[in-house]
Amino acid sequence: MDILKERIMQDGKCYPGGILKVDSFINHQMDPNLMMDVAKEFVRLFDGLNINKIVTIEASGIAPAILVGYLKQLPVVFIKKKQPKTMDNMLSTVVHSFTKDRDYTVCISNSFLTPDDHVLFIDDFLANGNAANGVIDLCKMSGATIEAMGFIIEKAFQHGGDFLREHNIRYEALATVESLDDCKILLK
Ligand code: 5GP
Repeated sequence: MDILKERIMQDGKCYPGGILKVDSFINHQMDPNLMMDVAKEFVRLFDGLNINKIVTIEASGIAPAILVGYLKQLPVVFIKKKQPKTMDNMLSTVVHSFTKDRDYTVCISNSFLTPDDHVLFIDDFLANGNAANGVIDLCKMSGATIEAMGFIIEKAFQHGGDFLREHNIRYEALATVESLDDCKILLK
């Protein structure tokens, strides 16, 4: 994924508190060609896994997830950050947002996440693993099995990777940020 790494170095911006802003190609404006390359790489890395559903969390996970779903011809479900009154069989849990520094309740319908599901979770960033922890909770509640997780960018100086290894969850990140110290992006 040299193309992703080059783009991070070219257009990524550091913010205080260990935040990497990639809003010109992932989080606000999106580059569909780069996103398709990202999706193809996830498909390659997770080839051979027994997956029947792609799960993501709104909003920034949706673009890569839907492309992976398209390539694999699998349904894509996104975990919602607002609880619609009309959702049937709602499962919910609380997730701490790293970028907003607050807790929020996320939810998914048990109609779309069931004991028959073998899930690949896709998201934009792995930081401290709070979103991933929420997905683990929701999958436990629903009876679904997590087969693997894929992140576009992992920040290795935070502890999401350790958290997933402790839980024996296979994950892949397409680019790994070693440090954002002194507002310089250091990639692995
Ligand atoms: P975690 O849940 O692993 O602590 O953080 C991951 C979530 O927080 C991702 O869904 C992502 O939206 C957001 N996030 C965490 N760190 C960053 C960052 O440095 N930049 C951006 N743009 N989002 C981040």
